[in-house]
Amino acid sequence: MNIKDILQTMDYGNAPESPDLALEWLAQHKNKMSHFINGDWHSGKNHFASNNPASGERLAQVSQADKNTVNQAVKAAEKALPGWQALSGHARSEYLYAIARLIQKNSRLFAVLETLDNGKPIRESRDIDVPLAIRHFYHHAGWAQLLDTEFPDHEAIGVVGQIIPWNFPLLMLAWKIAPALATGNTIVIKPAEFTSLTALLFAEICQQAGLPKGVLNVVTGDGSTGQHIVEHPDIKKIAFTGSTAVGRWIRQATAGSGKKLSLELGGKSAFIVCADADLDAAVEGVVDAIWFNQGQVCCAGSRLLVQEAVAERFHKKLISRMHKLRIGDPLDKSIDMGAIIDPRQQQKIASLVQAGVDAGACLNQSTAELPSSGCFYPPTLLTDVSPSDQVVQDEIFGPVLVSMTFRTPSEAVALANNSRYGLAASIWSENINMAMHLAPLVQAGIVWINCTNMMDAAAGFGGVKESGFGREGGKEGLYEYLTLKINTKTQKDKDKAANKQAAKSIEPVQGMDKTPKMYIGGKQVRPDGGYSYAIHNSKGQIITHAGLGNRKDVRNAVEAAATSHSWSHMNAYQRQQVMYFMAENLSYRKAEFATRLESFGHSKKQAETEVESSIQRLSYYAAWCDKFDGQIHSVPMRGVVMAMHEPIGVIAIQCPDEAPLLSFISLLAPAIAMGNRVVMTASEAFPLSALDFYQVLNTSDVPAGTVNIISGNRLELTKPLAGHMNVDAIWAFGSDAQWVEHESATNLKRSWTQNSHRDWLNINQGQGQEFLRRATQVKNIWTPYGE
Ligand code: NDP
Repeated sequence: MNIKDILQTMDYGNAPESPDLALEWLAQHKNKMSHFINGDWHSGKNHFASNNPASGERLAQVSQADKNTVNQAVKAAEKALPGWQALSGHARSEYLYAIARLIQKNSRLFAVLETLDNGKPIRESRDIDVPLAIRHFYHHAGWAQLLDTEFPDHEAIGVVGQIIPWNFPLLMLAWKIAPALATGNTIVIKPAEFTSLTALLFAEICQQAGLPKGVLNVVTGDGSTGQHIVEHPDIKKIAFTGSTAVGRWIRQATAGSGKKLSLELGGKSAFIVCADADLDAAVEGVVDAIWFNQGQVCCAGSRLLVQEAVAERFHKKLISRMHKLRIGDPLDKSIDMGAIIDPRQQQKIASLVQAGVDAGACLNQSTAELPSSGCFYPPTLLTDVSPSDQVVQDEIFGPVLVSMTFRTPSEAVALANNSRYGLAASIWSENINMAMHLAPLVQAGIVWINCTNMMDAAAGFGGVKESGFGREGGKEGLYEYLTLKINTKTQKDKDKAANKQAAKSIEPVQGMDKTPKMYIGGKQVRPDGGYSYAIHNSKGQIITHAGLGNRKDVRNAVEAAATSHSWSHMNAYQRQQVMYFMAENLSYRKAEFATRLESFGHSKKQAETEVESSIQRLSYYAAWCDKFDGQIHSVPMRGVVMAMHEPIGVIAIQCPDEAPLLSFISLLAPAIAMGNRVVMTASEAFPLSALDFYQVLNTSDVPAGTVNIISGNRLELTKPLAGHMNVDAIWAFGSDAQWVEHESATNLKRSWTQNSHRDWLNINQGQGQEFLRRATQVKNIWTPYGE
């Protein structure tokens, strides 16, 4: 057989890796695995089987953790917390470094065990999963060292609960554990029921590294164990990777608990091939995008979009390549695709493909022989599909690619964004201008240009829309495990008093209508219902009335914000000019705004100080417009990863009652400085300063729809805003976080709730980069260079 024949058939013969090392390790544990709690092994009462998906054979019995076991793990983590936090960054970095070294020394064992347990090709576990996991610990050892100087105002959150899926068991564990340890948190982690083994091997490695008892606790079990972690009152943060359905439930279950939350959820990522792409390279890209790890990859390029002019040629090349893929024993080093995780997942894939075919899709499937036993599914391409088909919209989580064509770049963007997900996208074009034109337009947390499925510890990973929120990796990922040290006081009593006054004061207008209007779509408008409510001063006297907005006003305001794109299309310099103009125009009206504040009961001095601070705050965020830069991440490849700060879209902002002008400006300014459009709900008790602000907006060239201001009952307005599908983020200051967060689960909008009192005049509390981070999300654009 000559080289040409070999390349034609891709027939390399067998090259099996021995399972012995992993089987011996399992035998040492008598094939019965325990939980790892407080540095020791605790066998559970009940067990479940962990099988090899490639053969169906049982590998081990794994313990099922109940509520009591989770409690023990949380207690151990709590006990370990003070000691772990008392260590210097350098001391913590030494543990991370030791862990990295020990995984490296045991990398063969990890790779074989992972392949046995998960069914992924040994080539992938050996060359991707394990080295990337090691890289995460080395990278974060560095962050532990740098923490004090790079994050001076931040501290660890406490005990964190982490829940991971089965598709990259060790790698997902590394993505979660490394940053949590580096930042001084202690951990209770639950691997997926199908794939617990490498997490337990990892626990053993931590024992060998001398990690203090209780810093890491591994509890195994099914979804109910995850549920106990989510609901545990002493866990301060949940980091979850898994399906959007469970992520949504976690958002609701943790609503109002004060737990910090990061969600890495599903995806249906677009793979865009422009007519000028290197088609052969793009075909290999597709192979890596959808047939890597049997397509069980959250960021899999599962929606192929090919420019019409080359579609036929491209499909032909792709189908020919697909038929050459080798599917077989995952321990064979020369196979391309291994086993599907479980017969239930295989069944789900098969039924979704059948539904696609029933709906009219054309099925192209590899005819390669599949192993006679075990759980396998052939590489599949569905063409002749429509954008609304189930196979195009739903995540299949298997080796199934759907393909559509486009004519123009804008059509490609429209198709790519026609998804509730927004995890990743791949763009293939030899024209860098075109690729860089498309990258910011595609709604995704990661964009790969002429490459795909690239990941590294130095670059953040995570999505937008229903792919979740938060990032793992990079500097951006560390914020997920840190909290800002600010001395906010809870203002429950203060709030109660203000709300009581406001709630009592809702009464119909009498006499002449002097009601300040709301501001929607660049126009002053009366409330849809025609009602208003009385506004009192601090002595309880009625000073005027304000519009009592309702659901319809919310709808109109959101529509105005969602359809007005000109602000977001302006460059940072242009936005900056407008914001300086706003500061200038507020300055001209200083006296008016101060008088308004005095009417609420501020002293003259207090009123003047608040107005002056508001002017300064506008200037502060105007200054930031062109300075809140992203980063170039140093990843180990020839190329660059650009971490860009992008606006989130439409942000609904509920203003608190304290410092009614300054708090309004302090929340509005960072949001619009970063290019978002906003729907502002004015303070319920003192809305007039916010409503007066339309004059400044009108005279400052702010495009209509950029800022919309509504007034009325806080609860009545925030509830529809929190649930609205066109609102991308909600900041709720001073209202019940529980229902805001619960409602925000509809489209998994980013929520920022604050029940504590900020001193808005204090620049350490009322302004800063925290606000800018909340107003942006990071998009990492990977661009290799060189021929
Ligand atoms: P699931 O959401 O079902 O499970 C993920 C994890 O959550 C598992 O450990 C699971 O336990 C646990 N779990 C299940 N139910 C609950 C619950 N009610 N409360 C708490 N924890 C629970 O997803 P899959 O395991 O099926 O993973 C596939 C999904 O994960 C895909 O949709 C994929 O896109 C997504 N994913 C996202 C990634 C990302 O980074 N964005 C990366 C990898 C996967 P158990 O397994 O024991 O049932």
